[in-house]
Amino acid sequence: MNHTVPDPVRDPWHPSMQEALAEAERAPATGDVPVGAVVLGPDGTVIGRGRNEREATGDPTGHAEVLAIRAAARTMGEWRLTGCTLVVTLEPCTMCAGAIVLSRLDRVVYGAADEKAGAAGSLWDVVRDRRLNHRPEVVSGVLADRCSALLTEFFRAR
Ligand SMILES: [Zn+2]
Repeated sequence: MNHTVPDPVRDPWHPSMQEALAEAERAPATGDVPVGAVVLGPDGTVIGRGRNEREATGDPTGHAEVLAIRAAARTMGEWRLTGCTLVVTLEPCTMCAGAIVLSRLDRVVYGAADEKAGAAGSLWDVVRDRRLNHRPEVVSGVLADRCSALLTEFFRAR
């Protein structure tokens, strides 16, 4: 998507997406796919960060979102992340979408869509499934070009 005119709905998330992108850029040092995430507390400050660490730690659940959510819960001192927002460079997978619902996050903001495995609107829509009683708000396509370029460059270099 090309935004020549600033989009008032999406622009407020640019600074947090830049924080998530900064996390993503650190991932390839360990051979990990560059995906980064931050969790914003109710006051908008960053309370958790994460990047893909599956290769670095040999943990199949070591996705950026799960690690950022765990860090945020430690900061909050409880598992409920009510009032918080997860900002991630790539559309969450089914596992991460499940973690988003279980942590009671208010909102998920993502950059690039994942047509092959996305669970926040592309292949599935786990986070807004009407059968669940907690459904976070979804904001998509924030700095999507930069988020997907990072992934394209990574896979091209391999
Ligand atoms: Zn995931």
